Amino acid sequence: MAPPHLLTLRQLTAKGLRPGGQGVQAQVLWRSRRYGAPGVRAAYLYDVRFALPKRTATARQRVALGKANAARRTCPECLRDAGYVLPRHLGTCLDCAEEMAAA
Ligand SMILES: [Zn+2]
Repeated sequence: MAPPHLLTLRQLTAKGLRPGGQGVQAQVLWRSRRYGAPGVRAAYLYDVRFALPKRTATARQRVALGKANAARRTCPECLRDAGYVLPRHLGTCLDCAEEMAAA
């Protein structure tokens, strides 16, 4: 029953859009017996005319993310890519942590 230019967040997402900084433009309220008192539920609607395309990472951003993730897997002790993100509390790969614990 809502005007065609007003969509929910899910409907925007399905069209590859995001609200783009706009606030909620309208809401649909209805009574629901499924949820507790007062039993009124709301769907927030956004204006498709103010919506912007969903952001996708640029090539440079993807490279930066790849580097950052590689850094998180690289052990500062043995300088190898551990193949997993290093546990923060150890700060090294599991092999190095084990060696240090044994020493
Ligand atoms: Zn190591």
